[in-house]
Amino acid sequence: MENSFKEKSITDIKGIKDVRAKAFARLGVYTVGDLLSLCPIRYENRAVVKKIDELKQHDEVSVIAYVNKIVKKTLRRNLTLYTVTVSDGTGNLQISFYNQNYIQQTLKYNYRYIFFGTVTQGFGSTLVMQNPVFEKADDENAVNKFTQLQPIYPLVNGLTQKTVRNAVSEALKLSREITSVNETDSDAHIRTMSGINSRCELPVEILKEFNLMKEHDAKASIHFPKSITEAEEARRRLAFDELLELQLMLFNMKRNCDRNGNMGIRFSKTDITELTSTLPFELTDSQKSVWDDIESDMESQKIMNRLVIGDVGSGKTIVAVMAMFKAIRNGYQAVYMAPTEILAEQHYSNIRRFLEPLGITVGLLTGALTAKNKREIKKEIALGNIACIIGTQALIQDGMQFFKPGIVITDEQHRFGVRQRAMLSNKETMPDILVMTATPIPRTLALILYGDMDISSIKTLPTGRLPIKTYLANSDMHYRVYTWVRKLVKEGQQAYIVHPMIETNDETEDNGIVSATENYMMLSDTAFEGIPTALLHGKMKGAEKDEIMRRFASGEIRVLFTTTVVEVGVDVSNATVMVIENAERFGLAQLHQLRGRVGRGALQSHCTLITDSKSELVKKRMKVMTSGCDGFAISEKDLELRGPGEFFGTAQHGIPAFKVANLYEDIPILKDAQRAAAIIAEKADEAEFKEYIEYIASRITDMVQL
Ligand code: ADP
Ligand code: MG
Repeated sequence: MENSFKEKSITDIKGIKDVRAKAFARLGVYTVGDLLSLCPIRYENRAVVKKIDELKQHDEVSVIAYVNKIVKKTLRRNLTLYTVTVSDGTGNLQISFYNQNYIQQTLKYNYRYIFFGTVTQGFGSTLVMQNPVFEKADDENAVNKFTQLQPIYPLVNGLTQKTVRNAVSEALKLSREITSVNETDSDAHIRTMSGINSRCELPVEILKEFNLMKEHDAKASIHFPKSITEAEEARRRLAFDELLELQLMLFNMKRNCDRNGNMGIRFSKTDITELTSTLPFELTDSQKSVWDDIESDMESQKIMNRLVIGDVGSGKTIVAVMAMFKAIRNGYQAVYMAPTEILAEQHYSNIRRFLEPLGITVGLLTGALTAKNKREIKKEIALGNIACIIGTQALIQDGMQFFKPGIVITDEQHRFGVRQRAMLSNKETMPDILVMTATPIPRTLALILYGDMDISSIKTLPTGRLPIKTYLANSDMHYRVYTWVRKLVKEGQQAYIVHPMIETNDETEDNGIVSATENYMMLSDTAFEGIPTALLHGKMKGAEKDEIMRRFASGEIRVLFTTTVVEVGVDVSNATVMVIENAERFGLAQLHQLRGRVGRGALQSHCTLITDSKSELVKKRMKVMTSGCDGFAISEKDLELRGPGEFFGTAQHGIPAFKVANLYEDIPILKDAQRAAAIIAEKADEAEFKEYIEYIASRITDMVQL
């Protein structure tokens, strides 16, 4: 019954029918449980009530007053103004309502109302309140209800704050009914909150130690707190739960790793110069030192679980190839997982060039292959006829059979679940795991999130790399920019033209967005007449994308009109020119990733950012881009300019998305959660703890046993 409550459709709530349900769906709210998890962005404080003669411009206040006069005026077609005069004995106040025709029926003469809104200066010296929210103020009760903190929710078209508030309030009522039934249970103290989400409350000891609100209370208070402090406490409790779950998951992974610690493969010494002597360059000292770390991990009995951090272009791929080479020379298979098909294809052609001359078979497994080809390659992999396997994550997880996997390398996919690991193990051994990333992660966070991994960084770029020259332009300079690009392309270089959108629709056309498709059609037979160009974007079929990318990499296509599909890891060293249209549409970290597609060879590279934006924030961002190329510095600036919220996407870190917690702002809570996880693991045998762990284990698929 408890479960069915949480899973009840939102249409079971009074006042919600198809239309509103659709609007809620756009917020990701389908069930009553989802609704209660919808976290307010902030609260409106209506508690300050002033007399009319105390009002000042810019006040955000409540006023209790009688309605004296309502005047309707039609200003233009479609624009009606209601001017309402109210008074409270200390003076008169004018209230303006624009286009709110219900006013005439709703507000009644000589009745008392409470209004909340912002006070502004009207004509002359009169003060005006515009479009306030209001309620009848018959008695104390009504006033109190109105002046409570009001939650402000994220909205979509078709929903108002009032609708969402009422729905949440109904849902809470329902949950309270169910909870009070449970309260009569013998173990009520553990189950008080089960009405809301049918789970076990945290062990009492943890609640006490960390001074936490009960979950049931937190779930109610987050919506209708009595004070800001109460709201903060509620939020802390809910964030704590999310972060504790994360910490338990990490803790569990580490345990698992330690437990299987001696199941690693002890690779023997390999003559790595067999590979490195074929390279057209010397390894940098940074690359060498990271390789030393990897080599000693591989030669030890423990399972390697290493994160390699290196800025774009720092040369992570070759280090990965060295590790694969070592595994293969020891008679094992090596697996390389790329985040996208384009990248898998790219790495395939790159890595083949290194390994095939040394007699190593390299195979590619992508969704673009025909079913028949896929079957064949899978068969060859299972038989051990392919030593080096490159593919996307999805394909490799999908019921794959390996002959003898020795090392698994993932690109920009930071966490490797217990399940994935189990799938790759054979009975006696577990493969080594190496994770490559260009995402700069602040140190405190890295320690907490990757506490179970060893970390190496490639700190410098290969020498002889010229820093990319970055320029700023506005759209008036289009013609000049593209004439200049044409000149460079004519001299033998290649260019990426990056756009925020594939196509524009009527709505956005006015906003001056230049789409990939339009620009491609416009420039291909004008500025780039006679030059082979192509369009590449994420909506194309895998095979089509790969074909275009192959022709660009081979130099057949000279100018590529594209979108952020080229963002991660594409490596064509002859491409030295990039133009980014509507650069204001991209975040700093993203611009840095995009720009990293050029500057990958010995030639001077150029990047032009085009924007007409007047925003101060955008100007600051552009300035950061034109004044440096260091990824870590840029990400720090990004953090500073954007605030922590948006910066840290969690998906690629293999961390579940949070509804409440924020990894940057909530580091103190994260630390508490880390300590709580340790206590819980230590007391895992006590009944109350056991029950909690079982509950958590049922939620986290990767969780085995603590
Ligand atoms: P990322 O770290 O972004 O994955 P890559 O591994 O793709 O970078 O390397 C970028 C480019 O630099 C590639 O073309 C690669 O061949 C080249 N490269 C790698 N190491 C060196 C080096 N030590 N000296 C010169 N070029 C290098
Ligand atoms: Mg790479």
